[in-house]
Amino acid sequence: MLEQLRQVTQAVSLAEGQQQKLDVIVHEICAALKVQVCSIYLADYNLHQFVLMATRGLNTDCVGRVTLGFNEGIVGLIGQREEPIHLQKVSEHPAYRYIPEVNEDKFNAFLGVPIIHQRKVLGVIVIQQEAPRQFELDEETFLITLAAQLSSILSGSEISELFEHSSGELFSRTIPGIPASSGVAIGKARVIFPLENIHSIPDRKTDDIEAELKKLGSAVKSTHRQLEKMSRRMRGKVSEQELSLFDAYQQILGSKGLGAEVEEVIRQGFWAATALRKVIQKHLNEFKLMQDPYLRERANDIEDLANRVLAQLLKSSYKPQKIEAGTIVVAENFTAAMLAELSGNDVVGIVSVKGSSTSHAAILAKALGVPAIMGLEACPLTRVDGKELILDGYNGQLYVAPNQTLVNQYQTLLEEDRQLNEELSKEDNLPCLTKDGCKISLMINSSLGTDSARARKTGADGIGLYRTEIPFMQLEQFPSEDVQACIYRDLLHEFNDLPVTIRTLDIGGDKQLDYFPIIEDNPFLGWRGIRVTLDHPEIFLVQLRAIFKASEGFGALKLALPMVATVEELDESLRLIQQAFEEVSEELALIGKQIKRPKIGLILEIPATVFLLKNFASKVDFISVGTNDLIQYMMAVDRNNIRVKSLYSHFQPAVLGVLQQIANEAEALNIPLQICGEMAADPLASLLLVGMGFTELSMNIGSLARVKRAVSRFDLVELQQLAEEVRDFSTEAKVKDHLLKVMEQRGLGGLVRAGN
Ligand code: PEP
Ligand code: MG
Repeated sequence: MLEQLRQVTQAVSLAEGQQQKLDVIVHEICAALKVQVCSIYLADYNLHQFVLMATRGLNTDCVGRVTLGFNEGIVGLIGQREEPIHLQKVSEHPAYRYIPEVNEDKFNAFLGVPIIHQRKVLGVIVIQQEAPRQFELDEETFLITLAAQLSSILSGSEISELFEHSSGELFSRTIPGIPASSGVAIGKARVIFPLENIHSIPDRKTDDIEAELKKLGSAVKSTHRQLEKMSRRMRGKVSEQELSLFDAYQQILGSKGLGAEVEEVIRQGFWAATALRKVIQKHLNEFKLMQDPYLRERANDIEDLANRVLAQLLKSSYKPQKIEAGTIVVAENFTAAMLAELSGNDVVGIVSVKGSSTSHAAILAKALGVPAIMGLEACPLTRVDGKELILDGYNGQLYVAPNQTLVNQYQTLLEEDRQLNEELSKEDNLPCLTKDGCKISLMINSSLGTDSARARKTGADGIGLYRTEIPFMQLEQFPSEDVQACIYRDLLHEFNDLPVTIRTLDIGGDKQLDYFPIIEDNPFLGWRGIRVTLDHPEIFLVQLRAIFKASEGFGALKLALPMVATVEELDESLRLIQQAFEEVSEELALIGKQIKRPKIGLILEIPATVFLLKNFASKVDFISVGTNDLIQYMMAVDRNNIRVKSLYSHFQPAVLGVLQQIANEAEALNIPLQICGEMAADPLASLLLVGMGFTELSMNIGSLARVKRAVSRFDLVELQQLAEEVRDFSTEAKVKDHLLKVMEQRGLGGLVRAGN
């Protein structure tokens, strides 16, 4: 059974285009289950009907023509009930709808299974048989398993069809993702891809076919030489049989056929790397479909070889791509490091197939003020390069090759945003006060040298969180004490008299250093933040010394510790901080200089610490709540996993409850409290936070003016009432709806679209 399943899904994933995939599915299911009919009906949500999209055994002329309303027939019933229906004699069922032209009169036995992706019915797979019979249990489980597996393949392929039919009226179908950085961008897509992965190479055309042919020739030659070298090096160390692998590689590489095929595709006008990918994928498909496991395994060799040629090819032809102004950059998995590298370019938008609104790339995009969408699982990376895009970072929608009507609509939106920003920027120099005059400190979350100057201009009250790991990611090795001191000094200099909270290195989770990879099964539950730096005091001490050295001459440094879970971790951190402080103080004293002991705080992001607040409060000077991780650990949702994204919300009643508890306790303990997670950047949430008692909110630059506007339109007591009102709401939807209504009533609706 497992083998049959593998065979079907493999065949489907290799088929190109939606129709071919559907045809392959019905064909493969008939063969695997030995049934006479297999049909697929897909849901059309615009017209509220199922459409027969593929069949084997029924009249194929009906494909695309026969439809059943969502409430019609057994197929409609399966869609409504979201469960399989199994009938010995289908025509006897009261819901049966007879459609003469499909020619199904003689088929009695019927089994239909819904195809569901992320709670949405995409369609129904039906198998039928002449003899009135009960399908076996394992036939039913086979179909259910297959439908579950096919759901994600189909959800992606449905979208990829957009590229063929993008010239309709108003572009009605979009690629959905997660809004990660608000704003709108209109521009051309540029796919950036990891080198040495043949599957990530986009479709790209060339004007210079001869040059591409030449590049291919020399890449193949270099790979030959590389393989020879490897083979020589391994001789005597591995058996003759293992050595023969290199001969096999050389043979494949030398085969006229393969090279000629790639050349052929280049001559059609494709870039050499694209041509290589197309040819290799075709061969991989053939290998992967083979029954013989040994031969199937050879697909891995072909893939490895292709990646080697690709590496050579890109080495000769790949110059770090110049990203043109107005580009929307698309990648499979945008990392914070990739974004940091791009930060000097004139990128207008970011699209990432993986990741979520609080992945660190998203946070950085917000800091840069670049609209971004993450988690676009259905974005066919290889086909989007060079296409015109509209990126709607408010709603998390990507439009590919949109028509002029849609472009005009979004241009109007862009203009409205520009005007709103301009209007809000007039208040940059005003403090954030509630309507009745209570001061709320608005600070900036920063991480790049370039954004601190921008941050200063927003009229922020300081830096509430400086993520030191981001500059670490831009380097190729751990930065020295002097290099770090320079970075921190620039930051402190920019903010001179204002408080600047520098957080010690917080790597792990989704923040990786190329030169210090941390590979774990559960990275967010593993070696992260303070856990790493306490295990490596040599790294921690260098950073602390650099921070203290940089603080000389500046009075407002604050130090924050990430991911602390226990009192022991805090004690050990404080001991190392004291050691570094004393060392630097003594060294500076020799040249007649001195430094002030900074305020030391804890980032509260692990739920366990909520229960230890009293113990922590007696040892630190302030608490800063990191809601990005706190929500992740409270709700048990990976902050980057789009399957569970609906659970990851700062309006979850449990999250609000814990925040209120923290605020109450901090007040009772008389310890200064701040919030530095993305929640503070949401104008809606900021109202609640102020109402709960948070008076210091730290956020990305782009949100500051909007939060200021929202908070300043309410009296403090109104916000306290608001926090009180939502306390009894049992669902996040109710909380959000209520807040939206309140904002609308105050005429602040525009801020919400233009918020996060
Ligand atoms: C947080 O967890 O809320 C936080 C501010 O830290 P980061 O997003 O860098 O993990
Ligand atoms: Mg965190």
